[in-house]
Amino acid sequence: MVKETGFYDVLGVKPGCSPEDLKKAYRKLAMKYHPDKNPNEGERFKQISMAYEVLSDPEKKAIYDEGGETAIKQGGAGGGGFHSPMDIFDMIINGGMGGRREQRGRDLVHRLTVSLEELYSGATRKLSLAKHVICDGCDGIGGKRGSVQKCAHCDGTGIVTKVQTIMPGFMQQNRVACRTCQGQGEIIEERHKCKKCDGQKKVRDKKILDVHIEKGMRGGQKIVFSGEGDQEPGLQPGDIVIALEEKRHSIFKRAGMDLVMDMRLDLSEALCGFQKVITTLDKRSLVIHAMPGEVIKHESLKCIQDEGMPQWKNPFEKGRLIIQFRVEFPDSLPADAAKLLEQYLPPKHIEELPLDVEMVHMVDLNTEQEARNEYKNAYDEDEEDGGTPGIRIQQCATS
Ligand SMILES: [Zn+2]
Ligand SMILES: [Zn+2]
Repeated sequence: MVKETGFYDVLGVKPGCSPEDLKKAYRKLAMKYHPDKNPNEGERFKQISMAYEVLSDPEKKAIYDEGGETAIKQGGAGGGGFHSPMDIFDMIINGGMGGRREQRGRDLVHRLTVSLEELYSGATRKLSLAKHVICDGCDGIGGKRGSVQKCAHCDGTGIVTKVQTIMPGFMQQNRVACRTCQGQGEIIEERHKCKKCDGQKKVRDKKILDVHIEKGMRGGQKIVFSGEGDQEPGLQPGDIVIALEEKRHSIFKRAGMDLVMDMRLDLSEALCGFQKVITTLDKRSLVIHAMPGEVIKHESLKCIQDEGMPQWKNPFEKGRLIIQFRVEFPDSLPADAAKLLEQYLPPKHIEELPLDVEMVHMVDLNTEQEARNEYKNAYDEDEEDGGTPGIRIQQCATS
């Protein structure tokens, strides 16, 4: 026999029901009367939580069954009192600590700029970060043990309902954070407050991290230090997340696992052979060469196997180093040299001229502004036909 059934009635269950039924009943009612859905039923929500907290705990249930609500309130106050209804709700409905975003401390995200050399060879960088940690002066209590009191003003919920008269006869109810306890639901007397954290339960701390940049990592990749983020009392600490950002390299561009570089060649080198040194990202010197007579064309591509970026987690596997050649032509040649050169080049194709011709003269077309104007005019005129962005050169300086 139980002394009274008040808590059972609140949840709509019979004494002796199974823990599953109890949880089911709580779940249903808590969803219905949650302040987000039913702001005017705060008191009901609190009762549901309290009833569930007592009946789901075998020890508290025994006290209640024997001595009723009075016994619980007498015995319970000393033993830390009740959890806030929101905590109970989060624990049951949202699957406990960590089940909801708010149940974890903040993640600290930090950008780290790394060079291509570091991503090639791997590196360790020391990073100093500021974060909140649980105060060790009070173990996150905020004051002396036992000095924490439930806030009487909001009954430990951290939230109070304010009734405002908008005009005579019209009232509005607002749920706001309790001012007495700053929404914490509890109060520590000034003289009992922890000196180290001033009752805040946490302090700022400096943390030095060794960030291991592994061979083959890339920009945008994240390195996570699980549980190293901000600590908050009652929450799981968040993570420290290091987001890598790849610094631009003056010579190499990355294309997946390949590295791409431009190489300038003089025409004589392109035609008559050359020898060039490439300094790799790990400072080795590679020599490439072309034999005399081997022609390297402008914008042609060559590659060196296994001199690209290492694969992440499998660094012996490497991409290619791709070289794109830029051949620089001389501005002019001595006329007799041209004649000499001609002997060695593939024969010219000589065009047969029709009888009636006009001889015209070419000049350089190189001012970009000129080209742009020409484009703009062409575009303006031909707007209807889709504006093909071809550069139309109507008159090429005839004279
Ligand atoms: Zn403290
Ligand atoms: Zn309060």
